[in-house]
Formats: sequence, structure tokens, C-alpha cells
Amino acid sequence: MAKVCGIYEALWLARLHLSSAHALYLHLPFCVRKCAYCDFASWETPAGDPLMAAYADSLGRLTAQAADVGLLDGCKTAYVGGGTPSLAGEGLVRLVSDIRLRAPSLDELTCEANPDSLTDKLLGSLREVGCTRLSIGVQSLSDAELVELGRIHTAKRANELLRAAVETGIDVSCDLMCATPRQTDASWRRSVEGVCEVGVGHVSVYPLQIEEDTPLGRIVGDDEPAWNDPEVQARRMEQAHELLSAQGLVRYEVASYARPGKECLHNQAYWTAVPYLGLGTRACSMLTREAYERLRTVSPRLPQADEDASRIRLTCIDGVRAIAGAQGLADLRYDVEQLDERRAAAEDLMLAMRMVRGAGPGLVEHARAVIGATRVDEALSWCQQQGLAEPAGGSWVPTVQGWLLGNRLYGRMWELAE
Ligand code: SF4
Repeated sequence: MAKVCGIYEALWLARLHLSSAHALYLHLPFCVRKCAYCDFASWETPAGDPLMAAYADSLGRLTAQAADVGLLDGCKTAYVGGGTPSLAGEGLVRLVSDIRLRAPSLDELTCEANPDSLTDKLLGSLREVGCTRLSIGVQSLSDAELVELGRIHTAKRANELLRAAVETGIDVSCDLMCATPRQTDASWRRSVEGVCEVGVGHVSVYPLQIEEDTPLGRIVGDDEPAWNDPEVQARRMEQAHELLSAQGLVRYEVASYARPGKECLHNQAYWTAVPYLGLGTRACSMLTREAYERLRTVSPRLPQADEDASRIRLTCIDGVRAIAGAQGLADLRYDVEQLDERRAAAEDLMLAMRMVRGAGPGLVEHARAVIGATRVDEALSWCQQQGLAEPAGGSWVPTVQGWLLGNRLYGRMWELAE
């Protein structure tokens, strides 16, 4: 372990040695139909398919076992993502109850949902069993754009559902996508203003990424469509920034805006080196060495941590049927990646640059201690010269230009791993 050289670094170091996960992610990879742009781990599944219920119940059992070995002792946030978790209906309700039982000190429990499968009844049940936050995949409030994206809900349904969800008092976030086919500056404005009008507390905005092995990618081929041009993407993100700021939503991460106090705690865990446990097909975990040793007590097939490993990343490689039939954590198979202190610190710097508050003094001090002060200072100065980041007190924060040229900013931080 690196020598502690200051109070800020000591505070930062504490999180690098937590012996339990502080965030829990559960992946439900089922969707009614694949969207045209989607390359996520999700599979078309008919509503009511017993496989979904068996899978969700298995995740509940795996969560219980993780809790039994202390892996959820410090767990503060849980997130059920997909796929379309709301498609699992009662299976999702049971899973949320299981999470509440096994991680009783949660500050936030989010479920992802889509307007086509989140019924009023399900909304009420989720609230009753302890879901505190819904992240709803709206993407657009234009029917023509939704059709192009292969989404199966209408703008009217999305609007009604957002209203109903906000009225329950649950925290509501919605995702919107820009630089999509048929979108104009005016229709983008209507989507952004439309979701603000119903009173959501959190909005995430993303430019559409055209992935090769998707229906949309095959239609586009080698073309570079004007509607997805980098300039259009930048303009729409800027437009969203102005519109959301005018409505009182404050940007706290490159793609995330929230009313004060409504920032997503779970996503912030990913960007601040907090250990998290992911369960389900293709779910990722990022564990400290200490938490990893706890997982190994019930997953003896996992390799021993390398002597210099300070962080272990696991990706579950089991398919949905294997997860549904798993008797316990010992049955799961993972890809395992071990990071030494240097790689972990470079990764933390890179992730911190996604957030408005950037890399704080603790992280910067720690990175200087384990990577080398000269190398870290050179990298940060280079970012400053390029207009990508700037010092602010003891922190380093990204500029808007840094986010627009994210690959350069994040790439320069990641180079410190080598
Ligand atoms: S709903 Fe989400 S996960 Fe499912 S196909 Fe569409 S984009 Fe992919």
C-alpha cells in the first residue's frame, strides 16, 4: 500500500479498503423487442415468460447469500437495471423486497422501467416494497423519432406514465437521446421541455451511438448520417444544457442533470471508486481486495488475488438460463481482471473527470503518490494547456471542452496506467 501523505489522501484511501460493496447492481436482461440501436446485453422475451420469474428469484437468492457473508454490510444504494426490469412485473416486486430485506440501510433503490411495461399497479407495488427511484427510458417525446429508434411506446404513453410516477412521490429520472433520425432542434426542445414540465427530478441526456452490429448500424453502414454528425451531437447537448438549466436542473455529470438533492447516488458510486457488486448476466463488479476475499469464501473457483492487486473487476459470463438455475454464488463464472494501485488510480482519475466536481484533492494526492507526482502533474498540465481541465482549489475539474473532446481527456488520464 502507498504511504499516506496527507489527510485528503487518507480519506480517499479509506474507500479503497472497504470490506463490503457499497453499491449493488442487479441486471435483468429481458426486453419485449430489441430497439434498433441497442447492443446491450438484453434478449427479446415474451411478457410472462417463466424464465424471467425464475431469473429474478435467483437474483434474490444470490443477493441473500452475498449478504450472509457480509458483502452488503455497507451497502448504501441498489440499482435494478436492464434490459427492461419492469417487464418482470411481480418478479421485480419480489426482487425489490429481497433487496430491502438483505440490504436494510439503503439510501436509494432504483429500478429501470420502460413506458410499455410499467403499469399503474406495478408502480404502486414497487413503491410499497421500497423502490425509491425510477429511471424511465423515454428517449423522445416525438412518435416519429420513437419509431425510427425501434421503441415500442408512444410519446403519449411516456407522458402519462411520467406524470403518474411523479404523482406517487417516488423520485423519477428519465433518459433522453439526441442526434437521432428525424430529430430537429425544435423536436429536441419539445422532448426536453416536455419531461421537465411533468416534474421529473433527474434527466440523463445522451447522443445516439451507432453500433455496428445492430439493425440501425446495418442500415447506416459506412455512411456518416448528417443527423448524427458530431456537431449536431454537441449542439443538442448544449441545447439540453441550456433548457435543463433554465428549468432548475443542475448538471453534475457529463450526461446527468438533477434538481438539488436528486442526483443519483448509485451512479456516483461508479465514478468515485466505491466498491460495487453486480449480479446477473454480464453484470460487472468492482471490488476492493478485501471485499473480493469475502466473495471468494463462497466462490472458491475464483482465482487468488495477485500480490499487487488493489482492485478486482469481475464480469459475470453466465447466460440467463444458468443464472436462473444457479444454486448459489459458487455456481457463477466470471471474467476476472486485476488492477494494481497505479491502474486503479488512473481509472479513478479518468472516471472523476466525468463529474462536474472532478478529481478532488484526496484522489489527486493519492494518484501522485502511487503513479508519481511528475507524471500526474504533467498529465494534468497538458489537459489544462489543451483546455480540457483546470485546477480549482485542490481539485481538478473538467471543462465543457474537455467533455466535448472526452476521448482526449479520459485517454490522457488512462495513459497514466501504463
Ligand atoms: S429497452 Fe433498453 S435494453 Fe431493451 S432493447 Fe431497448 S435499449 Fe436495449
